[in-house]
Amino acid sequence: MIDPHAHSGDQRRPGTVHLVGAGPGDPDLLTLRAARLIAQAQLIVHDGLVDPAILAMAPDHARLVSVAKSRSRHTMPQDAINQLLVDEALAGNDVVRLKGGDPFVFGRGGEEAEACHAAGVPVNVVPGISAAMGAAAAAGIALTHRDAASTVSFVAGQCKGLADQDWVGLAGKGRTLVIYMGLATAGAITEKLMADGLSPAMPVAVVENATRPTMRVLRGVLAGLEQIVETHRVKSPALIIIGEVAARAGAHHLAQIAETAL
Ligand code: SAH
Repeated sequence: MIDPHAHSGDQRRPGTVHLVGAGPGDPDLLTLRAARLIAQAQLIVHDGLVDPAILAMAPDHARLVSVAKSRSRHTMPQDAINQLLVDEALAGNDVVRLKGGDPFVFGRGGEEAEACHAAGVPVNVVPGISAAMGAAAAAGIALTHRDAASTVSFVAGQCKGLADQDWVGLAGKGRTLVIYMGLATAGAITEKLMADGLSPAMPVAVVENATRPTMRVLRGVLAGLEQIVETHRVKSPALIIIGEVAARAGAHHLAQIAETAL
């Protein structure tokens, strides 16, 4: 029998791509909206940073596709990820594109949204708690503080283009600098900041696996940053926080609790 309502794929109404922030790790730090979309998902396309406990919230029948980057050897180029999202949506499927932290903070969510818009696929962005907020809260470091910092900057510290980036004025008195993806370049970052005039004694904190049971908070000063990373064998994901706020009493207190909990 011929179904009069049957139509070919390209005439079907496209599904929606939900660009969803999964937060820094702890499932309790998901937004209610993210939790609802995950619980109702048919298809989840996720990064390696998304905690397994969060993926476990998907229905049993949901398709889970990993497009893990960086630490995994099974990587998918960004173009292929964009194409996957567009193809699935054009086939009529709603997609939950689950990303660590917030989709629009160093998450390439902007590129995915653009690819969807170009293909006529509707996009819904659900913000998440970015690693900087998760790490700051868990380590007791106030990113801004009336007595210590009225400015906070987020920068990406990965190798590509580091030398060309202008960080002058982002760190120093009254300012907090949070560096994502900065482990491999910790030495170069230190040199760059000290060449810009930052004191070698400026406090730093390195927060590894923020909000997860394996979290570590390591503190020191700028001149010793690379050594902290090497001595403690800090692994990704980790954030570097540079500024007076990293050495305040609250930070010491909570960090000690985190360290003794190891
Ligand atoms: N969109 C994400 C960032 C992706 S870039 C967000 O908003 O958080 C990946 C980098 O984020 C890592 O290299 C690390 O610097 C940082 N990061 C992500 N999760 C983290 C965590 N749980 N603890 C510390 N750093 C984390």
